[in-house]
Amino acid sequence: MCGDPVENGELIIDGGNIIEVAAQQGSDDADLDLSDYLLMPGFINAHSHISLTALENKLSPSDSFADWIRALISHNSALDSESRVQGIRSGAEAMKRSGVTALGDYVADPELLPVIGGLGFRSVLFLETIGFLPEKAQELCKNVEEILLRGNPSSICQLGLAPHAPYSVSPDLFRLIGQLAQQHHCPVSCHVAEIKEEGRFLVLGDDSLEELLKERSAWDPKWQPPYKSPMQYLSSLGVLDRLIAVHCNFVSDDLDLMAEKKVSATFCPQSSEWFGRTKLMPVRALLDRGITVALGTDSLASSNSLNFLDELRMADKLLPDVSRKEILTMATSGGAEALGLQCGTVTSGQKADLIGFRLPSSYSGPWWDVPFEPDRHEVDFYRVDGRYDAGLGAK
Ligand SMILES: [Zn+2]
Repeated sequence: MCGDPVENGELIIDGGNIIEVAAQQGSDDADLDLSDYLLMPGFINAHSHISLTALENKLSPSDSFADWIRALISHNSALDSESRVQGIRSGAEAMKRSGVTALGDYVADPELLPVIGGLGFRSVLFLETIGFLPEKAQELCKNVEEILLRGNPSSICQLGLAPHAPYSVSPDLFRLIGQLAQQHHCPVSCHVAEIKEEGRFLVLGDDSLEELLKERSAWDPKWQPPYKSPMQYLSSLGVLDRLIAVHCNFVSDDLDLMAEKKVSATFCPQSSEWFGRTKLMPVRALLDRGITVALGTDSLASSNSLNFLDELRMADKLLPDVSRKEILTMATSGGAEALGLQCGTVTSGQKADLIGFRLPSSYSGPWWDVPFEPDRHEVDFYRVDGRYDAGLGAK
């Protein structure tokens, strides 16, 4: 991800860190022979909701996004905690088997932090907040701050903040979360410009989203559309700097603003396909503008798979003007840059989060095609922080 591949190289790791990448220098008993493997940085799933994994096959795409949210709320509230935790564990296994070593996950229920923080991923767990009533903003923010003050769940897992979306979070709550993020040096992520109704909501008002908020007793009768695009709106609230923006289907007019504010964009290929989106994130234009693009799975409430190799193949299908090398960069160093993690490349000083693909000795194609091969569903080598994961069975 940061230079020419090293043939027959030697990689030295110690204490979870990559010490050196070099041409082969001889071996000793402590070495692991990976001579028939393509070794690369682990994949970074920059956007997931792993606690929704148990909703697999329960929802179907709907013409109305508001109807999909209604169905999501109804199924999600009916889940018992045992099924939810089982789902989290099976979701983690599917991600790990397909090479995900780091995660940016939205956590709606703070009680799940120990479970998700203990899955073994390097991760940023974003505390998800929803609240469109301005009078609730102070209290919601105070709850989030209490969790931040308890500290990070583990040494490889830090906390972030995730105001859900411009149509579900009040301007006051956005401002308070922005201030909290600055005080606690937290990364912030948000679903932005996902649906056309969101753009309408911010300019003219949108009946379907207003109706949804009213049903949830969350409508603010004093709401006045700010007459801004989603990105401009978040900028006016002071939360756009270094925002990890998810989806970004309607941002073509805001590329300069995104570049200026160092916003990163997370593309969720299979979720976009599942919804049948006709307008997708303008990935080519974002990359050409120098904006960091990452990849995410989103959840099984809007996708059929958490397998990251499926995600790569779907990105390849949906983005004909983006090369496989660029997609792999999005899946690794792009995700690391977006989430602020010290991984995503195989270089000295980086964390030893590594995956490998075993190659037949006859393989002669380019290295970047390997993860896209249609019959690849698992990685053959997996390390997070240099550690072997006994549950996986990969070398
Ligand atoms: Zn999402």
